[in-house]
Amino acid sequence: MTSVATSAPAQRLKFLQGYPADTLAQVAQLIADQRLGQWLQNKYPDAHGVRTDKALFEYVQALKASYLRGAEPLAKVAFDSKLQIVQHALGTHTTVSRVQGNKLKAKREIRIAALFKDAPPEFLSMISVHELAHLKERAHDKAFYQLCCHMEPRYHQLEFELRVYLTHLDASGPRLWGLQAQPCPASPA
Ligand SMILES: [Zn+2]
Repeated sequence: MTSVATSAPAQRLKFLQGYPADTLAQVAQLIADQRLGQWLQNKYPDAHGVRTDKALFEYVQALKASYLRGAEPLAKVAFDSKLQIVQHALGTHTTVSRVQGNKLKAKREIRIAALFKDAPPEFLSMISVHELAHLKERAHDKAFYQLCCHMEPRYHQLEFELRVYLTHLDASGPRLWGLQAQPCPASPA
């Protein structure tokens, strides 16, 4: 039987359900010591520079061109500030049907939570790969994760660390990476 001191906080780690108990205990201890944010920032000191929906679209398109050339074209890729990250869904992937003339055209859209705008490049890679994999595999099954790992070999580690970040925010920790503003680009704001 584990002690109340370690098991009670671990039960609140809703984003990390399914990970080993000793891992949860380590995360709970870092939260208790108020060191979880620092642990993440030590691993990933820098934010990526993808700041606009246009840049995000190009970033995801480049990944798609490298690994999923045959998949259906993407009509839209955007950051979504209204998208809440829940336990089992990291982003959304939808097929929007539109009538064009007398043809019903399906358009694939990827929306990525605005949280990922201020994040390290590794997290942006992880969520982009996750959503792209859904073009081929709907469910979070073995084939889905194999495809994710094909596109991003560090996928499982990165999804874990992203979930650690969500846990940090859930424990009222401050947003990380957002204050490290990129140098002002030579284009109008
Ligand atoms: Zn998914």
